[in-house]
Amino acid sequence: MRAKANRVAVLALLLVGVTGCAGGGRPVDLATVDSVERPAPVGVEENPAPPSTSAAPAPDCDPTRSFRALSPMPPPRQMPAGSTMKKIQDSGKLIAGVDQNTFLFGFRNPTTNALEGFDIDRVREIAKAIFGDGNKVQFKVVTSAGRIDALKNKDVHVVVRTMTATCVRWQDINFSAIYYQAGQRLLVDRASEVTSLGQLGGKKVCAAKGSTSIKTIADHEADPVPVQVDNWSDCLVMLQQGQVEAMSTDDTILSGMVAQDPNVKMAGPRFTQEPYGIGIPKENEDMVRFVNGVLEQSVASGSWASSYDRWLGRTGEPRPQPPAPKYRD
Ligand code: GLU
Repeated sequence: MRAKANRVAVLALLLVGVTGCAGGGRPVDLATVDSVERPAPVGVEENPAPPSTSAAPAPDCDPTRSFRALSPMPPPRQMPAGSTMKKIQDSGKLIAGVDQNTFLFGFRNPTTNALEGFDIDRVREIAKAIFGDGNKVQFKVVTSAGRIDALKNKDVHVVVRTMTATCVRWQDINFSAIYYQAGQRLLVDRASEVTSLGQLGGKKVCAAKGSTSIKTIADHEADPVPVQVDNWSDCLVMLQQGQVEAMSTDDTILSGMVAQDPNVKMAGPRFTQEPYGIGIPKENEDMVRFVNGVLEQSVASGSWASSYDRWLGRTGEPRPQPPAPKYRD
């Protein structure tokens, strides 16, 4: 009896509430939400001055040609005396410059806090070849713009970070043979009809500082407005918030974003070639030959393919052949 009376009382209160809302007040006006100034990521720059290197004519070279792989390869823990690899072996860890924001290539697994991805697998293979243990690695997070200096200053032994081998970069550092062939594309809002940079004249397009992508945007004849940031994830946030019309970089990086956010899509075909190499200090040619031996082993053993399937298989694209190594001897 008492329960029934309580239910009646609750119903009555609800009715009062409903009629009170409907009759007494106006709906809250949410229209002003659109006009809120959204904070921009730290370090964002619109229409940046081109980096000084881009003024110099690109030297004529084949950036995909590296130094011939070491053969035979030394067994783990037995690096040749006097070699760069022996110094790394004696130091106890391989120091690798990587990204922690690029899903599928170099990112932090939020559950384990470990770095994972296709690039991280390459680092662990090198460590395994030196130490017999893929965990003897110290990761250092580097931005796109910080990669060359990290190698020149010897802060790291290698950079494995979605890094395109270019003739301009070969002037400052060495590259391994190519371990993945990417290409630049566009990322836009799911509702957008844009399919090319040519349609983005006068519109803001985001990319990371020091990347090949920002230069391609800045050099485009349609004059899109380049907006540069430190991290690729900053571009995604700016796109999600409508602060830029599009972002543009390698399809590898963009496919990680599509996997994370169903409200964005890749649009149009690839419009550049971005062959990925492992960056190594200019002086350490022996290390380049060693790393090329590791890459050859990884293709021969099937670990390149299983790493591809693990990280990039989910994109739905059929697995490509690993790039055939090209050497300048
Ligand atoms: N692959 C391009 C580059 O090396 C873009 C990717 C990046 O910067 O991480 O500049």
